[in-house]
Amino acid sequence: MDKNKIKKQTKNWKKFWKLGEDEFNTQYFDINANGELVVKEGYYQYNIMDIVKKYGTTTEVFFPFILENRVRDLIELFNAYIKILNYKGRFYYHYVMKSNQHREFVLPAIAEGAHIEVSSANELFLVKRMLEQEKFNHKIRVTCNGPKTDQYINLIEELREKGLIIIPIIENRGELERLKKFKGEVGVRVNLDLKVDAHWDKKYNHFGFDEEELVKIGKIRNLSMLHYHISTQNEKIEGFVKPLKRAIELYAKLKEQNPALDTVNFGGGMAVPYEKKKKMISVKSLVNQMIKVAKKESDKLGVKHPNLVCEWGSYFTAPSQISLFKVLEEKAIGNKTDTKWYFIDGSFITNLTDTWSVVRHKWHFAAANHLNTRRLQKVWLAGSTCDADDRYTASGNYVLLPKITEDSPDLYLVVFDTGSYQYTLGNNHCLLSKPALVVCQNGEVKLSRKRQTPEELGKIFGWNGEHK
Ligand SMILES: *Cc1c(COP(=O)(O)O)cnc(C)c1O
Repeated sequence: MDKNKIKKQTKNWKKFWKLGEDEFNTQYFDINANGELVVKEGYYQYNIMDIVKKYGTTTEVFFPFILENRVRDLIELFNAYIKILNYKGRFYYHYVMKSNQHREFVLPAIAEGAHIEVSSANELFLVKRMLEQEKFNHKIRVTCNGPKTDQYINLIEELREKGLIIIPIIENRGELERLKKFKGEVGVRVNLDLKVDAHWDKKYNHFGFDEEELVKIGKIRNLSMLHYHISTQNEKIEGFVKPLKRAIELYAKLKEQNPALDTVNFGGGMAVPYEKKKKMISVKSLVNQMIKVAKKESDKLGVKHPNLVCEWGSYFTAPSQISLFKVLEEKAIGNKTDTKWYFIDGSFITNLTDTWSVVRHKWHFAAANHLNTRRLQKVWLAGSTCDADDRYTASGNYVLLPKITEDSPDLYLVVFDTGSYQYTLGNNHCLLSKPALVVCQNGEVKLSRKRQTPEELGKIFGWNGEHK
């Protein structure tokens, strides 16, 4: 076949597997002439099959440059619109530790200018470690969400005394009382009286103060930040603009008794195109509209433009990692003639826990090899635990993957956007091992975390090798 023809075909395959598309966050992914998945860092290219051959499966592959580009782009975008629209407040992005606590993720984000958000004492302990190792510029800011146990508050106080700018976000009356004498800045979390049309639209939100209650409290010592976190996987511009407008009204009210209040923290919730089916909102026009609304509302109410804090989590971490599995076996599905089970060596319960629990989200799948085959198979995927729920049927629909044939018996499954929450939500059901973590950066491929061994797993459950 001539070169041009191969080029054209590869382009079609790329499109078919939804690779190389900005709006799906797959712009770094491509297919090589052998039909294998490659990931491009500038002009460098990682072949995923090389990683499979060297490290086996189950494996997570993290690309720090994807995370870094996303952090840099968003900070630049906010700063650009702040300038264009002559907005007087500043923008701060805080890396959400709970979305991925791996050192390999956190450090590059900080190096690109991220501040930090933690949700527990144990996450804050990691910040303490970095502080003790003098890894921080003293200007870094840390917001603390989540219920404040004594251990958590003691650590907050300790780090403040060590000179860290640390802002506990007060969520209830107990915390308000406990932090009355705190010498640093504090924030409060409000449960905004409005709903947005997104994944997390619970009728009763158990986080934060109601608006009315907050206004009644009046003066809060050292209050500098008003915080809300209204949703996750929010796919509409309105879902960001509406709450921001409402928060600025409240900010203006609270500012009367709390003149030092100068920041609105709009939490997390930016959607990730997990399914790669529909068009996502443009971050550019979202940022434009948010700054416009913040400006217009504050001008209307005659208050200073607040600084804006962003705590998007999965938006940054999810697209910077993929997960690799081996297809172990295929099997007929009862009397369904056109669809087959593909069994994988990992599990939807232990590795891709959101399939089944918290967000119940769908995933985009491709293969690491045979991406240029016309012979495709409709499949349902089955995980390796003995649980009947350990499966992925695309809600009764199907996933299209390369057919397993005699000439191509080995097939490796790739799942996209697995970099947020899955590792910590994951578990050891049926004592399956946690996957290995491989990191690709600057042309180098490194094993960062080994796959859990039977010995390590045994130890967790008290099997130390002595059988008494
Ligand atoms: C979880 C969480 C976030 C991040 O949410 P995403 O949906 O991952 O963007 C941000 N802020 C707070 C307070 C959170 O609890």
